[in-house]
Amino acid sequence: MPETALPFIPFALPDIGDDEIAEVVDTLRSGWITTGPKTRRFEEDFTAYLGDPSVHSMAVNSATAGLHLALEALGIGPGDEVITTTHTFTATAEVVRYLGADVVLVDIDPATLCIDVAAVEAAITPRTKAVIPVHYAGLAADMAALLPLARRHGLKVVEDAAHALPTTCGGQLVGTLGSDVTVFSFYANKTMTTGEGGMVVTRDAAIAKRVQVMRLHGINRDAFDRFTAKAPSWYYEIVAPGFKYNLTDIASAMGIHQLRRSRGFQATRAAIAARYDAAFADLPLITPPQPAPGDTHAWHLYVLRLADGAKLTRDGLIDGLYAAGIGCSVHYIPLHLQPYWRERYALTPERFPHSQHAYERMLSLPLYTRMDDGQIERVIAAVRALLG
Ligand SMILES: *Cc1c(COP(=O)(O)O)cnc(C)c1O
Repeated sequence: MPETALPFIPFALPDIGDDEIAEVVDTLRSGWITTGPKTRRFEEDFTAYLGDPSVHSMAVNSATAGLHLALEALGIGPGDEVITTTHTFTATAEVVRYLGADVVLVDIDPATLCIDVAAVEAAITPRTKAVIPVHYAGLAADMAALLPLARRHGLKVVEDAAHALPTTCGGQLVGTLGSDVTVFSFYANKTMTTGEGGMVVTRDAAIAKRVQVMRLHGINRDAFDRFTAKAPSWYYEIVAPGFKYNLTDIASAMGIHQLRRSRGFQATRAAIAARYDAAFADLPLITPPQPAPGDTHAWHLYVLRLADGAKLTRDGLIDGLYAAGIGCSVHYIPLHLQPYWRERYALTPERFPHSQHAYERMLSLPLYTRMDDGQIERVIAAVRALLG
């Protein structure tokens, strides 16, 4: 335990209100707890939230499942290559391997910590089929450069938007930028949560149909259709060996209300980030990259990097914060350092200098809507005391 009498400030906490709880209870009492009317409503609300009726929103039980379904629907398979950033969670890349295709990891742009579009271009081969940008920490990747590059080379684009609700890029919400598929996460520590869950969005009707079929065993109609449709309810057809990736109505009940609160969550997170920025401006730290003027950063993470000349190492700073009763994390240990990825593709840190440099100096501070003033001030005071 930390050597402090003060209560521990965890790295992350969900913000579940009375409306979420009442809706979950209503679901539990309703007799329909798996995918059904609440999930349908959550999906409709999500499309309305994105503000584009041509977007199909499909709820799934995780973003990992959603990324898998997206690549499956795009026909990714053995012999194909998919390019993504080394500076991400393993889920972004592992789904490529589920399908027997190969992952090509590239470095980040040190200014944004998002995928380096020039590195993507340099990594394209005749086998390349798709690119997966990650809107790291909630800041949009350089989609204005990436989308035209992908179009020129005939590549599909699947956005890993696990951090990016709500994020805008060129004034447009992530989810409406014109990639093939975008996938959001509602994991417990994300900007909104359903405990576990995700949303797959696309404007392409054929991709939407395939995702809908494959998320529930390859059945041509989902269980709710069978329950409500006029046709005899026992009849269904299996058209593919699908997966079990549907979201429950219990989870969607939470999602309906979390989504309503999402803009308010973003405003609270942005205000905490701005307080941190101001408080750390004179310290040997690189504060997080800012969005382009007029754009929205979702502020899923507040990532600091130690500047040269700081008197502590990253590990020393994390230990000091922990001793002060403050939880931190590191996003991420780059994939090129993880044994599976390193060994499969014979990767070395020299090939990813910007990701490696950032990783060695970075930590993520607590940033969530339930932080109170006293907690924010304690984090600020502890960082200043350790580095000042
Ligand atoms: C959380 C996360 C995922 C996976 O989300 P789940 O909903 O937990 O499957 C994928 N990519 C990134 C970048 C994430 O942070």
